[in-house]
Amino acid sequence: MLITCPYCGPRDVIEFTYQGDGNRERPQAASQDLDAWNAYVYDRLNPAGDHNEIWQHSGGCRAHLRVVRNTITHEISSTAFARGGHKSAGHKTEGRS
Ligand SMILES: [Zn+2]
Repeated sequence: MLITCPYCGPRDVIEFTYQGDGNRERPQAASQDLDAWNAYVYDRLNPAGDHNEIWQHSGGCRAHLRVVRNTITHEISSTAFARGGHKSAGHKTEGRS
């Protein structure tokens, strides 16, 4: 599987570290809403299809990326820096090979 880092270009998945679900929203640090914290820490989506994920290019530029990956085909439809900045044009990469 290839992931296209907006900075480094297409790289093998072995250079990246999965950082988690990109859909979660962290409660405010001072929040005492235990249900919100419980959901943030433990609840996970398990979609069959496109999934927003955070990956770090740990073997490269170390940037955190927002990746949309199809969980069935492993096809990646877009990547972008997780904190705004440049956005990679939508691209298609092959699934698992
Ligand atoms: Zn990179």
